[in-house]
Amino acid sequence: MTEKLTHFIDGQHVEGQSGNFQDVFNPAKGEAHTQVPLASSDEVKAAIASAHAAFPAWSATPPAKRASIMYKFRELLYAHQDEIAELVSKEHGKTVPDAKGELGRGIEVVEFACGIAHALKGDFSESVASRIDTHTIRQPLGVVAGITPFNFPTMVPMWMFPVAIATGNTFVLKPSERDPSSTIRLVELLHEAGLPPGVMNLVNGGKEAVDELLSNPDVKAVSFVGSTGVGEYIYTEGCKHGKRVQALCGAKNHMIVMPDADMDKAVDALIGAAYGSAGERCMAISVAVAVGDEVADELVEKLVPRIKALKVAPYTDEAAELGPVVTKDAKERIEGYIQSGVDQGATLVVDGRDVSIDGHENGYFLGGSLFDNVTADMDIYKDEIFGPVLVIVRAESYEAGLKLVNDHEYGNGAAIFTRDGDAAHDFTHRVQAGMVGVNVPIPVPVAYHSFGGWKRSMFGDHDIHGMEGLRFYTKPKAITTRWPSGIKEGALFHFKAGKDH
Ligand code: NAD
Repeated sequence: MTEKLTHFIDGQHVEGQSGNFQDVFNPAKGEAHTQVPLASSDEVKAAIASAHAAFPAWSATPPAKRASIMYKFRELLYAHQDEIAELVSKEHGKTVPDAKGELGRGIEVVEFACGIAHALKGDFSESVASRIDTHTIRQPLGVVAGITPFNFPTMVPMWMFPVAIATGNTFVLKPSERDPSSTIRLVELLHEAGLPPGVMNLVNGGKEAVDELLSNPDVKAVSFVGSTGVGEYIYTEGCKHGKRVQALCGAKNHMIVMPDADMDKAVDALIGAAYGSAGERCMAISVAVAVGDEVADELVEKLVPRIKALKVAPYTDEAAELGPVVTKDAKERIEGYIQSGVDQGATLVVDGRDVSIDGHENGYFLGGSLFDNVTADMDIYKDEIFGPVLVIVRAESYEAGLKLVNDHEYGNGAAIFTRDGDAAHDFTHRVQAGMVGVNVPIPVPVAYHSFGGWKRSMFGDHDIHGMEGLRFYTKPKAITTRWPSGIKEGALFHFKAGKDH
């Protein structure tokens, strides 16, 4: 086992003091390779205190100067991308190209943060009344916290901290305890890029660490990405303590396949979107809604050989398409769902259980699974399985398919595959989801747009990154200025209509 991992507080690595450690596994081998410290609330308090002390100087640093550190950080991320991707793959299990892909999407947010001086420009109105002007500015909140999930250990933290820091806040990040090494590396590189100590802190841990972030009065806002149960708790607790909270949560993303769709393209899309990253993406397609039996039959016929041909292998095999799932528990949970689908009457067309890889017999591997004839009352339809399992629901019409999507408790992403402009237009208007794709299976917005779901896929008002992210991490201030005219007016004891101030 390699050395234990550390926290990163006030510009330096800090060893865990709580005495609590958790094993970090390589899921391809099923072996622990290091341990992560779980911070006590006192250790989290130290990180918050460091961020609090750094805030006055950092928030007073001109935005263009803050952005210059982001430029340097971006260069370092590219220079170290192979090393970072390897750390992601080793602890998460995803393939190396996939790990580089998530890093690339994170770098896009850093690029948005490089332009923060432009994005932070305020509004100005001249002569709102005689010799009076009004302008608005946006100012940082103070110390803000991020709590992130295992499935994107580099991209999701970078949805948060580049925008938060570039807008003048200081940050305390609590990454997933399951795969923290790549996230710690990002924080090291940020300091190599010239970030002053205390602006960015990282504490590892679980519930105790999170609860300190949620209740500490010096934390002004909390960004969370993770499962819905935890996200709802974070939202409720954070709001109870007067914080601004954005909590991006679980999903069950549907893709409607219309009879006029290009079926080969729809199948390509489903293979990548359902089985890529072993289905451990909040934007994975986990439900294909086939409009009509003919569409369903053709999808099954074309999907089955493709799923069976997926190369299930560890990230060290360059040909790998489907890596292991993250933990033994996750594997058992997914297998349990597959069994429940069978028990509740769905047709298991491809069974991805019982996969064994030579030399990796203890790895948490699963092949792709496919269910047909799934109905809305089954657990495999209702719940987020978060594994390489795709279910097909047969809908008798477009309207029935749309109703299915809109009745589901989640509303993160949704897609339609069709050549019909009317259907596509209707879908984009009426679907109850935050991110919508037309012939695009995983419609993750680029960094200068914003990411967020509807219904129980998100709690809070501002989406993440892009201008919504900027609004989340800043508060507006409107300043009204009178330019003395030399005319004495005396005191005013009542409001006057704007134009006669
Ligand atoms: P998770 O909810 O288990 O963990 C997320 C974070 O919360 C981690 O840092 C974890 O340490 C912390 N946490 C866990 N239990 C806690 C508790 N009881 N109290 C306080 N904090 C706690 O999520 P995960 O398994 O790491 O990630 C997978 C989930 O994240 C899926 O549901 C997926 O859909 C979701 N996700 C959503 C998005 C999105 O943008 N909507 C993006 C990525 C992942």
